Amino acid sequence: MKFPIYLDYHATTPVDPEVLKAMMPYFTEVFGNAASRNHEYGWTAEAAIENARAQVASLIGAVDKEIIFTSGATESDNLALVGVAEMYREKGNHIITSPIEHKAILDACQFLESKGFEITYLPVDSYGRVSPEDVRAAITPKTILVSVMFANNEIGTLNPIEAIGKVCKEKGVLFHTDAVQAIGKIPVDVQKMGIDLLSLSAHKIYGPKGIGALYIRRKNPRVRLSPMIHGGGHERGMRSGTLNVPGIIGLGKAMEISGRTMVEESARLNRLREKLWDGIRAKLDEVYLNGHPTERLPNNLNVSFAYVEGESLMMGMKELAVSSGSACTSSSLEPSYVLKKIGVGEDLAHTSIRFGLGRFTTDEEIDYAIEKVVSTVTKLRELSPLYEMAKEGVDLKNVQWTANH
Ligand SMILES: *Cc1c(COP(=O)(O)O)cnc(C)c1O
Repeated sequence: MKFPIYLDYHATTPVDPEVLKAMMPYFTEVFGNAASRNHEYGWTAEAAIENARAQVASLIGAVDKEIIFTSGATESDNLALVGVAEMYREKGNHIITSPIEHKAILDACQFLESKGFEITYLPVDSYGRVSPEDVRAAITPKTILVSVMFANNEIGTLNPIEAIGKVCKEKGVLFHTDAVQAIGKIPVDVQKMGIDLLSLSAHKIYGPKGIGALYIRRKNPRVRLSPMIHGGGHERGMRSGTLNVPGIIGLGKAMEISGRTMVEESARLNRLREKLWDGIRAKLDEVYLNGHPTERLPNNLNVSFAYVEGESLMMGMKELAVSSGSACTSSSLEPSYVLKKIGVGEDLAHTSIRFGLGRFTTDEEIDYAIEKVVSTVTKLRELSPLYEMAKEGVDLKNVQWTANH
C-alpha cells in the first residue's frame, strides 16, 4: 500500500496509464497546430482532435459538432452561464440554480447578479436534491436558463436530471448541468435527459488537468452563446485559442475508457463504498450519512462523526488522504456550505469526512481505512466528556451549562 491512501477522487484523479500513453506522441512527434490548414502537421493534429471530439460526444449521446473544448469545467460552467446570459439578455434576465452547486457556478452567478441578472437559488431537500416541481414554479417569462448539477461533489447526491430536463423543455427554457462528477460513474444522455448544455472535466475521470469540454445543443433548440475569449475563432468562434492537443487527446481517451469500463467499475466502487460504510457502522455508533442513501454516486461516502472534534479527527487519520467538511478560510474554520444547506448542524459539519473512491482503490486500502477511522474515532471519544454523558443517558440538549469566568 502507498501512504497516505488516496481517498479524494472527487478532488482529482491520477492520469490513467493508457491515457498518458495516448497523449505522449502529441507532445513531440505530432506537435502540429490543429488550426494549420496548409500542411500535414496541422492535418494530423486536426484529425486527432476530431477523433477525440467524437469520443467525448459518444459517451453523452451528443453529436461531434456539439462539443467545445475548454480549459476545464470551471471555464465550461462560466461559458455556459455567462455565454447564455449575454446572448439571451433581450429575452430575459432570470436564471435558476441551486445553492449547493460548485463554486464555478455560484461565483459565475454572483458575477451575473452584479451585472443586473436575477438569480433564484432553489431550496434543496435534506439529501441535497432539487425538486422538478420547484423548478417549474420558479420559471417566469424572464427565465433564460436553469442550471442544476448532476451529482454533488461533496455529498454525492444525484439530482432528478431527466425530470428537470422535461420541465425545462415544456417551459421552453434552456437547461445546463454540471456533470463533472457523474461522467464515467453513471449513464449520461443529453437527448434522453433533455440537457441543452453540459460541463465536464478530464482530471476527474483519469485524464489530465487543465482540459474540459462544454456540450452545446445544436438542434431542438439550437443554443447560441456569446464567447468569453476572443481571438482567431477556434471552436466555431465560441472559444478561441490554439487547441491543447495532448490534453484533448487525453480527455478523449479518458472518455473512451469510461464508456468501456463504467458498468463494471461503478459496481466495484459501489461494493467498496458499502464495505467502508458497513465497516464503520459495525464498530461505531452516532455516525451519520450525509447525502442520499441510494440516489448517490457509487464512489462517494460522506459521514459525520458525532462527539469528536473535526481537526483532531483529521490529524488522527493522516494516513488517509480525505476531505473534511470544514473549509479553511483565511481567518476561521467555516463549515461546508453544502452541508449547511442540507441542514447539517455546524458541530456535525466540522466532523464530516468525504471519502472519494476511485479506479485504483483496493480492498486492502478500504480495510485499512475502516480500521483507521474506527480506532481514531474510538480514541477521541474516550477523551470526550460529552460522549460519556450521552452514553450515560444524559440528555445533552437539556443540560444547564455554566461557564467559569
Ligand atoms: C472539479 C469540479 C469542477 C471544476 O472542474 P475543473 O476542471 O477543475 O475546473 C466543477 N464542478 C464540479 C462538480 C467539480 O467537481
